[in-house]
Amino acid sequence: MTASMPDLCYLDHAATTPVRPEVAEAMAPFAAGRFGNPSGGHRAAAAARLALEEARESVAESMGCDPGEVVFTGGGTEADNLAVLGTLAAAAEAGVQVDAVCSAVEHPAVREPARAAAKGWFGAGGAPVGLREAPVLPDGTIDLQALEGLLEPTVALVSVMLANNEVGTVQPLAEVVAAARRRAPRAVVHTDAVQAAAWLDLSTAAAGCDLVSVSAHKLGGPKGVGALVARGGTRLRPLLLGGGQERDRRSGTQNVAGAVGLATALRLAGVDREAEGARVGALRDRLATGLVAAVDGLVVTVPGVRALPGHCHVLVPGADREELLVLLDAEGICVSAGSSCASGALEPSHVLAAMGIDGGAARGALRFSLGRATTEAEIERALAAVPAAVDRLRH
Ligand code: PLP
Repeated sequence: MTASMPDLCYLDHAATTPVRPEVAEAMAPFAAGRFGNPSGGHRAAAAARLALEEARESVAESMGCDPGEVVFTGGGTEADNLAVLGTLAAAAEAGVQVDAVCSAVEHPAVREPARAAAKGWFGAGGAPVGLREAPVLPDGTIDLQALEGLLEPTVALVSVMLANNEVGTVQPLAEVVAAARRRAPRAVVHTDAVQAAAWLDLSTAAAGCDLVSVSAHKLGGPKGVGALVARGGTRLRPLLLGGGQERDRRSGTQNVAGAVGLATALRLAGVDREAEGARVGALRDRLATGLVAAVDGLVVTVPGVRALPGHCHVLVPGADREELLVLLDAEGICVSAGSSCASGALEPSHVLAAMGIDGGAARGALRFSLGRATTEAEIERALAAVPAAVDRLRH
């Protein structure tokens, strides 16, 4: 699939994507020649600052916001933490009870800081934070009626991801925003658009949100850089204190090369988004129907029309995902179970549990995630290898 790993059948683009050559090329000058610190006063600094500000303008254009609303971060996790903890800490300063509402299928980068806040992460002095989780329907979409019931004027943060990382479900975000504005008028609305950014135009899909998180490595950019869009002066208490960069919202010398990489990846994603979405969606549909036909009892967890074009999450009865991943890896096929932690160990999936999928069925969960680099030949290869691997495990 990639020039350096030609034998790989890489179907794990939701985990990370290869850096696009145009992105690598755009970043290259900042590793050596244009190495200045963007905060400095001389010409070397000015060259770096110019690149950083051009990257900010480009990200703003891709995201549909003002350049001053873009906060560069060290990735999606940091953007999510800043959104959740920064918003709740700012709200708690007033000393009155604040509540947060998240969907039950958020990525740990949202879920964990929200839980930490509810357990007193701010320490003594901050107001208590109440956390409510909005349930989802069996296809992973948020239960809008239940969400309405959880929203009230004490809610300071509503965080609902635009698309899920495990199963790919795209959320009805405009309806979530409308419900929040109606019932929780003081709430800051955040969306984790980390998975969606490769496939959806965030300038429209996330238009109503106050805070939007993205991460470069999910769309052909480098790892370790992302951004949080903070619209209209949304109040955020910074998590990193220091030199006051990023208008005091994220101290630390900016990763200029990374910002350029993020800007380039977002811009390129917009160039052929529709055509690539249609091409990859068709490959994903071919994979899904082929797997259903070839593997007895296999079910597609979320119908293609509800999911991002690259996602194909399946449940394979009578097969253990861990064993399946090992067998497929031996064939050069990289897929995932969708819920591994940092050690690579497979954790029980809170996403599948929230969708009402029991632990037994979840044991056979596999996530294929396609991307711009995916070819028809890779899909055919997976379609040959997966049924054979399942057969081996079942017998
Ligand atoms: N949010 C979602 C939905 C993700 O899929 C991921 C990464 O898997 C993250 C946040 C974290 O992003 P990063 O890897 O840039 O920290």
